[in-house]
Amino acid sequence: MTDASPHANSPATQRFPVVVVGAGPAGLTVGCVLRAAGVDCLVLETETREFVERLPRAGVIEEPAVRGLERRGLAGNLLERAQRHTACEFRFDGGRHRFAYEELTGRRHWVYPQQFLVTDLVREYADVRGGAVRFGVRDVRLHEPDSDRPSVSYVCPESGRREVVACEFVAGCDGSRGVTRASVAERAAVARHDYGIGWLALLAEAPPSADRVLFGCHPDGFAGQMPRGPEVTRYYLQCPPGDDPGNWPHERVWTELRRRLGAAGAEPLTEGRLIEKRVLDMHDYVTEPMAFGRLYLAGDAAHLVAPIAAKGLNLALYDAFALGDALAARLLKGDGTGLDGYSASCLRRVWDYQEFSQWLSELYHGSAAGDPFRAGTTLARLRRLFSSPAAAAAFAERYLGTAERY
Ligand SMILES: Cc1cc2nc3c(=O)[nH]c(=O)nc-3n(C[C@H](O)[C@H](O)[C@H](O)COP(=O)(O)OP(=O)(O)OC[C@H]3O[C@@H](n4cnc5c(N)ncnc54)[C@H](O)[C@@H]3O)c2cc1C
Repeated sequence: MTDASPHANSPATQRFPVVVVGAGPAGLTVGCVLRAAGVDCLVLETETREFVERLPRAGVIEEPAVRGLERRGLAGNLLERAQRHTACEFRFDGGRHRFAYEELTGRRHWVYPQQFLVTDLVREYADVRGGAVRFGVRDVRLHEPDSDRPSVSYVCPESGRREVVACEFVAGCDGSRGVTRASVAERAAVARHDYGIGWLALLAEAPPSADRVLFGCHPDGFAGQMPRGPEVTRYYLQCPPGDDPGNWPHERVWTELRRRLGAAGAEPLTEGRLIEKRVLDMHDYVTEPMAFGRLYLAGDAAHLVAPIAAKGLNLALYDAFALGDALAARLLKGDGTGLDGYSASCLRRVWDYQEFSQWLSELYHGSAAGDPFRAGTTLARLRRLFSSPAAAAAFAERYLGTAERY
């Protein structure tokens, strides 16, 4: 929420050039970029360090995002430990169809669980680069983000007192349920798309059933397998939006996965205990612009792409690179060009990825729409990926996020 200035009642105002709200991939990357440039900042996070370092979500990272992390000295562990993926596989019409994108493009995907990346970024920001961070804060509020003297306040978990931080800029990196986007709700244009589809998101304590991402486009609904590491594998099952995970006991989950990912010559699924089971209602949104006075939104705080295209973490990183560099240029050299262009340049890529997510959604879910016409066009779309080099190249560029320009 946005409040009037709290300075008058707060003798103990702290000062930082930048306050970053949220210690997810976006916020921590902004913090690391700023610290590397010698800019002081404070990261505020409502959860504990242990919680953010253990939250399993994304895992597929595009090569340009990996290179962006590497250029900023943030990819050491990732390059050492992540799996390199060179192909994915579609299963439809009873058959297996391997899409070997590295052969086609020379580019790959990296698979590195989000919690590992967050752990690396927290360590680099706080322990190596000496960045200030407060975990477990409560009731974060923004004050006068349009003025030259914005500030952020929060309730300190130890003392229960409201602390005030005066700053020059606020980076809103607090995800889809944060306060920064809500604080500008009256001024922001939010475009939203609901797919009317749910995904049961599962984590199985089992090695992957195949060493590549699997997409099952089945008349009973989509199923996917995303390797995460040698011991844990993510699976998805299309389900009604709002479905109760309790409707999906162990046996039902594995029966459906076997059916929807089944194909001639396919290796059997490696089953394991389900350690996460939750229903995600597939939706996207985009907040425009991404800048409001001295508040700049980044990552899920600005836009959400349903996990359909596995793009959210990647977008969060691209925003964070741009915002970190732009804030450093403005604070150190007085060069505001990056900040002026931040929103428009990020949004071009965001909309491109949203469009890809919609296109991909039809590919995944069209066969199960209960409409023979859509089932027919979906099958044609799937077959074209394997019969037309031009269609394959266009898909690979978007799947891998390797377009020259957005
Ligand atoms: C099941 C699942 C699978 C996914 N798979 C992929 C994938 O394979 N590839 C991909 O690219 N993306 C994927 N995503 C999306 C990806 O996880 C998100 O897009 C990514 O986490 C966004 O990062 P962020 O830093 O913007 O936000 P978050 O990761 O949401 O971080 C925001 C942080 O802000 C904190 N916060 C919230 N409110 C406040 C507040 N008021 N004050 C202070 N702090 C606050 C939160 O606790 C959190 O730590 C997946 C998502 C899900 C749910």
